[in-house]
Amino acid sequence: MQTKTETLIEQIATATKPSIAQLVEVLAGEDHRPLWQKADQIRKRYCGNEVHLRGIIEFSNFCRCDCLYCGLQRQNKALPRYRMEPDEIVAIAKDAYEVGYKTIVLQSGEDPYYTKEMISYIIRKIKELGEIAITLSIGEREYQEYAQWKKAGADRYLLKHETADSHLYQRLHPHSSLEKRIECLRWLKSLGYQTGSGFMMGLPGQSLETIAQDLLLLKELDVEMAGIGPFIPHPHTPLGKEAATTNSSLLTLKAVALARIMLKRTHLPTTTALEVATNTNAFCAGANVIMRKVEPLAYRQLYEIYPQSFDQEKTLAQERKAVEEYIRSFGRTVSTSKGDAITIDQQKYEEAD
Ligand code: SAM
Repeated sequence: MQTKTETLIEQIATATKPSIAQLVEVLAGEDHRPLWQKADQIRKRYCGNEVHLRGIIEFSNFCRCDCLYCGLQRQNKALPRYRMEPDEIVAIAKDAYEVGYKTIVLQSGEDPYYTKEMISYIIRKIKELGEIAITLSIGEREYQEYAQWKKAGADRYLLKHETADSHLYQRLHPHSSLEKRIECLRWLKSLGYQTGSGFMMGLPGQSLETIAQDLLLLKELDVEMAGIGPFIPHPHTPLGKEAATTNSSLLTLKAVALARIMLKRTHLPTTTALEVATNTNAFCAGANVIMRKVEPLAYRQLYEIYPQSFDQEKTLAQERKAVEEYIRSFGRTVSTSKGDAITIDQQKYEEAD
């Protein structure tokens, strides 16, 4: 006989649109085992046992935005700023490709220094390296820019909605609006990008209802990727004095599991913020993707979204080997493909189940 929690999770898994009350009940609940089990079962069935590795190049920490939580925000005068030139970015992508990365994520603050043409050049040069996917994560830009970068060969775009509560969004992002963010996400989808969104957990002013709305927004946007990670206070930001919510890591795991249960085949990374906050990962809760920084250590230290400590510099090959061993230590396999969005036609696992 099913327990009350198992019945509720089953209802969420089969609903076209679960209710806020159902999602809040799971987020607030203490019976976690059925949640991890269902998320893991759905992950296996729709995504298989593979973990996809992405190499991320954080190529500029200049940012024109005022996000109250982010260490890159333009008011943070304590942060030394850097920018890589296009050929340097391409050279790092080449090194990453040679040690096995088949997806390169190009991320930066919102930095208008990089024109439409410069980003197109970088994309074209990286695509010339071989069988490689490019994910852009460079914020809100014009429709024409997104369109040109898609033509130049970009495959995917990550733009987290951060929070689905429009009032909270406005407080945290005085320079923009949730409406604008969602408009960009819809443009990206319409242009044929594999589109990623996501949100932070433990933001001051966030409630369980907000998190339920975050999950429903991911479903409504029909995203191919979703990043969910804990908010980590940065001392040189307006939210620097906020206490990190102690349960935000457990809540993050619950939200990842619910995202897997609701979205089924969406790629879900175990976010770096979760690893930094708790030294744990979300592979038990439905995650199937992991990202690793591939730029030199000196840049990693300056891409300080939140405080983070780093190991001594190793070669990219050593780091790649370590992350592969880490993945295998959980009984999972390392994907050898580019790890594109999983489509319904690829549903080989479902029949095999
Ligand atoms: N500029 C791009 C954009 O706006 O999408 C990409 C860079 S932005 C720094 C990348 C992500 O970092 C954001 O989407 C946000 O969720 C995350 N982030 C920033 N500050 C954070 C903090 N203090 N704790 C956790 N995550 C944070």
